[in-house]
Amino acid sequence: MNFFKIKKNKIPFGKPLVDFKEINSVTKVLKSGIYAHGPISNLFEKKFCSFTGAKFSSTVSSCTAGMHLFYFALGIGRGDEVIVPAQTHTATAHAVELSGAKPVFVDCEIETGNIDPEKIQKKITKKTKAICVVHFLGIPVDMKKINYIAKKNNLFVLEDCALSLGASYNKTHTGILGDAGVFSFYPAKHITTGEGGMVITNNKKIYEKIKLSKSLGINKTFLERKTPGVYDAISLGFNYRMSEIHAAIGVEQIKKINKFLSIRKKNFNFLKKQINKIKDVIILDSQNSSSKNSYYCMNIILPIKLANKRMNFIKKLNEKNIGTSIYYPQPVPRMSYYKKKYGYLRKNFLNAEIISDRCISLPVGPHLNSFDIKYIARHFMEIAKILKNRKKI
Ligand SMILES: *Cc1c(COP(=O)(O)O)cnc(C)c1O
Repeated sequence: MNFFKIKKNKIPFGKPLVDFKEINSVTKVLKSGIYAHGPISNLFEKKFCSFTGAKFSSTVSSCTAGMHLFYFALGIGRGDEVIVPAQTHTATAHAVELSGAKPVFVDCEIETGNIDPEKIQKKITKKTKAICVVHFLGIPVDMKKINYIAKKNNLFVLEDCALSLGASYNKTHTGILGDAGVFSFYPAKHITTGEGGMVITNNKKIYEKIKLSKSLGINKTFLERKTPGVYDAISLGFNYRMSEIHAAIGVEQIKKINKFLSIRKKNFNFLKKQINKIKDVIILDSQNSSSKNSYYCMNIILPIKLANKRMNFIKKLNEKNIGTSIYYPQPVPRMSYYKKKYGYLRKNFLNAEIISDRCISLPVGPHLNSFDIKYIARHFMEIAKILKNRKKI
């Protein structure tokens, strides 16, 4: 029951799934006249806590905003350093830059795409204040190792959970394995609010600081004011709030998350079984039985012979109306902004380079049924076969 049908016979890489429930819920808010600081954001937060098991959650305007708030709330800024993975969304590093601190990039493991814990220690200096990990494509990072390093060096741990809603490690949901976690509700993610994000934490102090700073450092929310218009700014802050209209979509979306996750898992496993038949292919997945993947998408690292023909491979898939993507198109330190500012040493990021330069990302989301997945698998295998036997592109 999907209202917004995208072009027929087309399998998009990502597609938000909304129906009359989201539409009714938004309409109700619009009619209520309360568009900010309202009860719907609180309800969304409550539901998010019960799904993840976090003690506290705070809606924010995006995942990037939430991560920026984390550094701001902890006073991390100019002169400080934060360890971040090289293989991630630009936003992970931008949030550090926005705080004034310097992102220090670390290469990833090839099997998971996650930050390599073994390579962190030697990047830690006197200036290091925090480690930010990303549960890459929903594959949980080995948090035991990360927390050990963090404790030894007295560092905060932030989890970028933009792709890990539903992912857990040793039965604990991602986002509360470190000091805080931030989720994204951008349209292509596990659930959407249009734009939006959520910070979760079990630390009351961090929660309260984030809540204050997202709302301009103002001590009373609209609902808490006894006399209308009377409030005080007790600290500096941003306007990083989520509107009630966005939260209304989130409230309906979070109710569907378990259904979404089970379809993702089914789609992923079917596709993996087929594509694994290609010789020397690597499919990123959890390597650890105590980790639960949330299956954001499937990253397929092509064997070298096929990797040379990747653009052609993608073109052929797209011609079959199969939507693809590349997660992520470049190691972040190779992106122009960072390369210019900090320089780029290729040998430090060899695994991140392999993922960026040799992978194709395929969709497994709940917008795909079993026919779509079979269609994708069949064409992927056929194209691989044709390209492998071809000498020149
Ligand atoms: C999408 C994404 C973000 C950014 O999320 P926004 O809500 O758009 O700010 C950050 N990190 C990762 C890993 C992402 O995939």
